[in-house]
Amino acid sequence: MTLLLNGFELAKQCRLELAEKIKKLPRRPKLAVLLIGNDPASAVYVKNKEKAANEVGIQSEIHRFDTISQNDLLALIHKLNTDDTVDGILVQLPLPAGLDEKEILQAINPEKDVDGFHPVNLGKLMIGENTPVACTPKGCMKLIHQAKEDLTGLNAVVIGRSVIVGKPMAQLLLRENCTVTMAHSKTRNLPELCRHADILIAAIGKPKTVKADWIKENAIVIDVGINRLENGKLCGDVDFDDCFDKCAAITPVPKGVGPMTIAMLLENTVEAYCSK
Ligand code: NAD
Repeated sequence: MTLLLNGFELAKQCRLELAEKIKKLPRRPKLAVLLIGNDPASAVYVKNKEKAANEVGIQSEIHRFDTISQNDLLALIHKLNTDDTVDGILVQLPLPAGLDEKEILQAINPEKDVDGFHPVNLGKLMIGENTPVACTPKGCMKLIHQAKEDLTGLNAVVIGRSVIVGKPMAQLLLRENCTVTMAHSKTRNLPELCRHADILIAAIGKPKTVKADWIKENAIVIDVGINRLENGKLCGDVDFDDCFDKCAAITPVPKGVGPMTIAMLLENTVEAYCSK
């Protein structure tokens, strides 16, 4: 029997636990979100984050700009860095052309970096220190643990080597004693590599790439991909219907990793508040 890893329900449970925790805090944690430009998808993501934050009792402060100069944006981040009532700062990506994303992300105080993208936090993750961890991989780990508690010695294959998903994902699996292989667009014989995976993470951005004959019998499969098909429907990087029966556990798209990413953003904000 395949276990469906329902991220929608797990995220709901995480949010309820956070709401309970926040009720007992002396003040509401505050998340500052910076949205620049007119990307409709970014506007929707920010709206969802704002709604989720308010529902658990996190105060959200949205800074919206059609355009802003690099220096003005850096000045705003500096102001938020030094504002004691702000616990988390998130810059919605991608930034419009003309803004230096790297410089902007590095300007955020690492302790308020609730996205976990700051080089200091990525470095701390690498050396095994406690640090804010990127929300998507953090959510994936919670989903994996729904299927299996102890991951020691398991073979994990992560497809995708982005800084926001693939690389931190590999570090988290390594931290839990998996033997980790990172695959990417230049990897040779990817299906064969995947067939050795007890845990398979797909973060590619190409619809239904992973097929049943890539999957080891009883693997745990986590599908990070979000792809929009021509018919308007969303699908993942894994061919869900093809693979389902072969897996011990699998995430659907939607209602898999996506809701967990938002829940982990809220968790990181509360953790940033508590670690002050
Ligand atoms: P990215 O484009 O930065 O990275 C994609 C990675 O896939 C690259 O490392 C590339 O080498 C690899 N790749 C591309 N084609 C490949 C192929 N044919 N075979 C093997 N590897 C290949 O993307 P990203 O930001 O890491 O996101 C990946 C996917 O996850 C996207 O669909 C994105 O929308 C989705 N995503 C979802 C969430 C969520 O909350 N569910 C969060 C972040 C990203």
